[in-house]
Amino acid sequence: MDRTNNSEPILKLEDLSTHFAVPEGIARAVEHLSYHVFEGETLGVVGESGCGKSVAALSILRLIPIPPGRIASGKILFMGQNLLELPMKKMRKIRGDQISMVFQDPMTSFNPVFTIGYQLSKVFTLHQKLSRKEAVKRSVDMLEACEIPSPERIMKVYPHQLSGGMRQRVMIAMALGCNPTVLIADEPTTALDVTIQAEILDLILRLKKKFGMAMILITHDLGIIANSAQRVVVMYAGEKVEEADVLSLFEKPGHPYTIALMKSLPHLGKTKKFLNEIEGVVPPPFRVIQGCKFAERCPEAMERCRKERPRLRSIEKGHMVACHL
Ligand code: SF4
Repeated sequence: MDRTNNSEPILKLEDLSTHFAVPEGIARAVEHLSYHVFEGETLGVVGESGCGKSVAALSILRLIPIPPGRIASGKILFMGQNLLELPMKKMRKIRGDQISMVFQDPMTSFNPVFTIGYQLSKVFTLHQKLSRKEAVKRSVDMLEACEIPSPERIMKVYPHQLSGGMRQRVMIAMALGCNPTVLIADEPTTALDVTIQAEILDLILRLKKKFGMAMILITHDLGIIANSAQRVVVMYAGEKVEEADVLSLFEKPGHPYTIALMKSLPHLGKTKKFLNEIEGVVPPPFRVIQGCKFAERCPEAMERCRKERPRLRSIEKGHMVACHL
């Protein structure tokens, strides 16, 4: 899907930096990050834990705790308006109404002392000003759309009475309740059993198509991206290191980190005792690094890499890489 020439992105991050004050100094969780998503498109955001993917998503919804967090620079443009400049009252209206999020662990997103029905119908009474009776009906409809059997019964239970997969389905019903324009799905299947993961992902993708939303799909799993996204942003240590459409990325990955992520994917039919791993860990966000942040783990690292930060440059149309090679 090439929308780059004929439409403006619906959501655009420009030079976003999100920092946190920590005892060790300033943790630069997100640094000069820019990405965008078009209407109806799925943008995959990939990287290991600690790469800043979720902090960027929480920054979009202005859910970063301030202090210790702060948006140090940048803009978040949603339909042309900078979300960072909106009064909180307006921002609360956009959250859920127009931009929704599905979190990794549904259990921590529910209030354990209220029933599913109470929490779900609140979405409709608060955001759409429906009466209690209308909100209950709409909640049941949404549970049905999320393929939850016996939705009337589910309305009466508490979150802990549901399985992880069911809770995630309810979470999706909640996120899609107001028919948002953009859905942010932050590792939506990571906390689930492997047998349920494919079902939930399939459900999200079908509902995304049905409701015509744009989606930012955050994951550490390139396999998920291959089947779901049109374009991909690869993040490392708070920065974007590669961006491409999904075919280019898988055919010609340009950054050694992307290549290493791909090599660590399991392949059906190839039996290996151990999967490839990327040695080392992501550097802590408070460490000041002059050169390339991946240099310590990069098999291609050169003298220059440790001194000079590589800038993003285009290697072909729509494909950018931040690497000295
Ligand atoms: Fe590796 Fe150097 Fe490229 Fe960084 S800039 S990814 S260290 S080759």
